[in-house]
Amino acid sequence: MAAGVCGTEPLVFRLHEGAPELVREVLLERGWEEFEEQRQDEGDWNLYWRSSAFRNSDYENIMPWQRLNHHPKTVGITRKDWLARNLRRMRGTFGSALYNFSPTAFNLPNDYVRFLEEYSTHRLANGGKGTYWICKPVDLSRGRGIFIFEDMKDLVYDCPVIVQRYISNPLLISGYKFDLRIYVCVKSFSPLTVYMYQEGLVRFATEKFNLGALNNLFSHLTNTSINKFGPFYSTNKEHIGQGCKWTLSKFRCFLQSLGINEPLLWQKINNIVTLTLLTIAPSIPSSPNCLELFGFDVLIDEHFKPWLLEVNYSPALSLDCSADVTVKKGLINDLIDLLNYKETDSLRQSGYLRQKYKTPCYLGSQILQAKTPPVLLLYEPSCNERCQSHSCLCSRGGSPESCGTAQWPWHHSDENLNSALKLTLGSSFKPVTRYCSRKRRSLLSRKPEPFDCSKASNLESESEDGSCFSTPDMVKENSKRKSGSPVKLPSIHGHKNKPPIYPSAYEIQKKSVPPNRVGDFILTFPFNEVTLKSSQKKLNIKMAIQEVHRLTSQLISSCGKKGKLRKEESNNTLGGESNHESLFWGGQGSDLR
Ligand code: ADP
Repeated sequence: MAAGVCGTEPLVFRLHEGAPELVREVLLERGWEEFEEQRQDEGDWNLYWRSSAFRNSDYENIMPWQRLNHHPKTVGITRKDWLARNLRRMRGTFGSALYNFSPTAFNLPNDYVRFLEEYSTHRLANGGKGTYWICKPVDLSRGRGIFIFEDMKDLVYDCPVIVQRYISNPLLISGYKFDLRIYVCVKSFSPLTVYMYQEGLVRFATEKFNLGALNNLFSHLTNTSINKFGPFYSTNKEHIGQGCKWTLSKFRCFLQSLGINEPLLWQKINNIVTLTLLTIAPSIPSSPNCLELFGFDVLIDEHFKPWLLEVNYSPALSLDCSADVTVKKGLINDLIDLLNYKETDSLRQSGYLRQKYKTPCYLGSQILQAKTPPVLLLYEPSCNERCQSHSCLCSRGGSPESCGTAQWPWHHSDENLNSALKLTLGSSFKPVTRYCSRKRRSLLSRKPEPFDCSKASNLESESEDGSCFSTPDMVKENSKRKSGSPVKLPSIHGHKNKPPIYPSAYEIQKKSVPPNRVGDFILTFPFNEVTLKSSQKKLNIKMAIQEVHRLTSQLISSCGKKGKLRKEESNNTLGGESNHESLFWGGQGSDLR
């Protein structure tokens, strides 16, 4: 499908108040039109973008040609206290060998006693000094309300906070602290399908790291929203330059120039992303025409161990500098490609009615008769494949032409798949043979449960109203929807009390293989045949975790054979104490070897 106008009609986007301007800009450039409430029918849009959570009704009333930019219930990782709790649970169940990537955290006031114990243990061990803590309000973002402390007497808070071990030995570049903003798109939670964006941002503090000045936020926090107001923001800083951001490509060049073992570092970051998403994947209602763009914040310490700091819901898409323009514009363009619109989507209701007329098994009440939900096709099946899976028009004498008109931009040969996997997995790569690449995936296998979006999550977007239930709007929208167009297609979540059972949907899912690459989005889960199979049935978390473990061990041993970090060089340039062994996941004490 062409990047711009799709089919004969332009695609239509709808932006909620406060949605990023960049999304509007990119979509207009691609030939989309903006939804106009006064002029257009309710439902006459293809993409609804909100920075805050959608309402249950938005999920319930979604049509096959529409997409939403959030999955329900992701608050389990996007709110700091929930993330801490979920990771602790996973550590308890699956052990700390893998779930050791987030600094120990306590939710206060609830965990006050536990924190006190931990604090006292450290105080005793370190002769009263040397352990630092960071206190963050659980439902704020952009560095607001954060402070660092060493002494308990400095811990003062008047709202729920998390207190976390402060990583006091970050990797520094010319003395400046930085963290990585990794963009992750979850295309589907069921089956779990995750893409990591190859490009990203490195966000620097604008004053040199100094443990002697804990109150200096420009030295300890890497949020752009803070550093752009720092006195040295515009100064040309040694190695870093002006401003406070690099692109991830620039950072990768930097690592390469030092001879750092890059693939291993990225594999560790991949693992963090996968293991974090596995904590919530089983509890997310299946909603395949949704997509989520997360911002994972990762700090690398002086031993090259990456730490997860937080997961952002609606990561900031404002353009503050040239690095932002390069990264975020490409990101949104590739995200739109990942949404996989097809020609009939641009015709919206009329297109689907036409398609319904042609292929009745796709839509309308006949979905139920065919025991197949309305589907968004990830891979356009051949007529034969379709007819094997569904009692569609072909089997009733329809023409083969009516069985698949859309163009699929992401058909990759096995060769392409293998070269991309090689790129991602490096030396641990083993060629993959796809056992089926042209099957359809069902839109829905179970009905979403209602979710509580009153639980604020880690919204980063600046002009965010944070509202979840804007009542007057909602009433208006709902009544409009009810009195809307006379011929209305059923909701894909239309079976309120009893989720429909679609036996064949599982069969189809079992055989579908997501494209390995869309633009700069690289498929990171499933990452091999075992995880593909395990995610296509009921997600087998244990098996997925074992595979992560196995893959990392392989990578570690292959790196071990080849030689690792160029120690002297890294010591000189990075100014940090480097250690060959600690380049590996979890450091020397890791159970992973
Ligand atoms: P916010 O949602 O307000 O941005 P974060 O958890 O991302 O909150 O923290 C803001 C910044 O503080 C991070 O970008 C990082 O620079 C620093 N930071 C947060 N937690 C830690 C930690 N445990 N150790 C070291 N630095 C941290």
